[in-house]
Amino acid sequence: MLLNRDDWYDTSRDLDWTFTYVEASDAFPARWSGVGAESADAWQAWDEPFRVSYRDYVRIQREKESGVKAVRSAMMRAGVYEKLDAGHVAASHLHMGTTCMVEQMAVTMQSRFCRFAPSPRWRNLGVFGMLDETRHAQLDLLFSHDLLKFDPRFDWAQKAFHTNEWGVLAVKNFFDDIMLSADCVEASLAASLTVEHGFTNIQFVALAADAMAAGDVNWSNLLSSIQTDEARHAQVGFPTLAVLMETDPARAQTSLDVAFWRSTRLFQVLTGPAMDYYTPLDQRKMSFKEFMLEWIVNHHERILEDYGLKKPWYWDQFMHSLENGHHALHIGTWYWRPTLFWKPNAGVSKDEREWLREKYPTWEDNWGVMWDEIIKNVNDDRIQDTLPVTLPSLCNLTQLPIGSAMSRHDLEPHQLVYKERLYSFDSEISQWCFEQDPERYAGHRSFVDRFIGGEILPPDLGGALAYMGLTPDVMGDDAYGYAWAKDYVTAEAG
Ligand code: MN
Ligand code: MN
Repeated sequence: MLLNRDDWYDTSRDLDWTFTYVEASDAFPARWSGVGAESADAWQAWDEPFRVSYRDYVRIQREKESGVKAVRSAMMRAGVYEKLDAGHVAASHLHMGTTCMVEQMAVTMQSRFCRFAPSPRWRNLGVFGMLDETRHAQLDLLFSHDLLKFDPRFDWAQKAFHTNEWGVLAVKNFFDDIMLSADCVEASLAASLTVEHGFTNIQFVALAADAMAAGDVNWSNLLSSIQTDEARHAQVGFPTLAVLMETDPARAQTSLDVAFWRSTRLFQVLTGPAMDYYTPLDQRKMSFKEFMLEWIVNHHERILEDYGLKKPWYWDQFMHSLENGHHALHIGTWYWRPTLFWKPNAGVSKDEREWLREKYPTWEDNWGVMWDEIIKNVNDDRIQDTLPVTLPSLCNLTQLPIGSAMSRHDLEPHQLVYKERLYSFDSEISQWCFEQDPERYAGHRSFVDRFIGGEILPPDLGGALAYMGLTPDVMGDDAYGYAWAKDYVTAEAG
């Protein structure tokens, strides 16, 4: 007779044993579990609500896979990709190049949960997480492989993380830290709770909606399918936080405050420009800020409140950054477009500008004036003056350009000396993150550190582009060949 799941589930996921040949602390070193011997008992309370069995998991995942594949072949047959808007396509290049290998890194993180997590229930759930993330990386590769014949940029789904492209280095720097190097407790707070449960909603819900509106049904469907897995395995963050609040609440506060800021900065470059500039105007659902407020900020505030944590000390500065950071990163990435592997859309035609003004009341004063300079140069046939000759200085925490965290008026330097080396930061917050655990961040050399250190030869923009692996067939340029700037020609003449 078959037992009901409730009759056997607890036995299956609580499988554990007492070590006799080795010490428990050798089998589960604190370096990897994140849990010292003194609090080991508290982790017995760790629980998850999913009650998933392997049999059910396989059945449901198989259905999801068939759904994705059916849409994929229908869309390929219909030749949908060739009809997509150039601005929208840039968002998919950016996504595939920066996300595919993060999915693969997540497999390693989940495998660490399987082996070292401080509760057998968590280790059990890690198995499903590993299978999820394997599926995500494979789906991204499959999608990109299908489209390779239309654009070599899809090769970057696999290639990007094997290059030194500066934006990819920033992404890699963050995920190497929170996925590949962090102990289980730290990884589940930073990666599961903050990134997977929070920030991936921008990428997988907001971008999926924009992609659907843009007619990119295949990509939209792929993103949504991935998100159904994230919504499940991201839950390991909650029981982890619950136990940590019993054993070490100060650590919980610091870990989440650091992870929240670092995620904010990363998604300001990964998703902010895609939502507010690349997506065609009539297909935009929400602004990046609106989406952040509804899906990330409210969410995060609720978690902090529910678990008895305080808002981060930097909350006001964060809100200021929400108004500005991704606009700064957008104008920066557009200006340094030869250093990208996608073609950014400027997104500042007159109609688009009106939308930006409405969504961001300070936009004109901060960013519009700078775009006016660029527009003038474009229309005076001085494209050369809209291209970079040098590299921007970079933050030693986020690896993003200094001056890209707040408004154009907030440029006071943030620097410190640690073990005789000078470190620079994009904000007071990033400096604070560094100070919480300097050994964790010190030593890494940013792109500019490498440039100054003589690793990039010849020491000019050409040498830097070669070092980044950027070949002419993928190198970034304006998505519409500057056609949007014509909007301003007649106005100036009249
Ligand atoms: Mn994933
Ligand atoms: Mn995940």
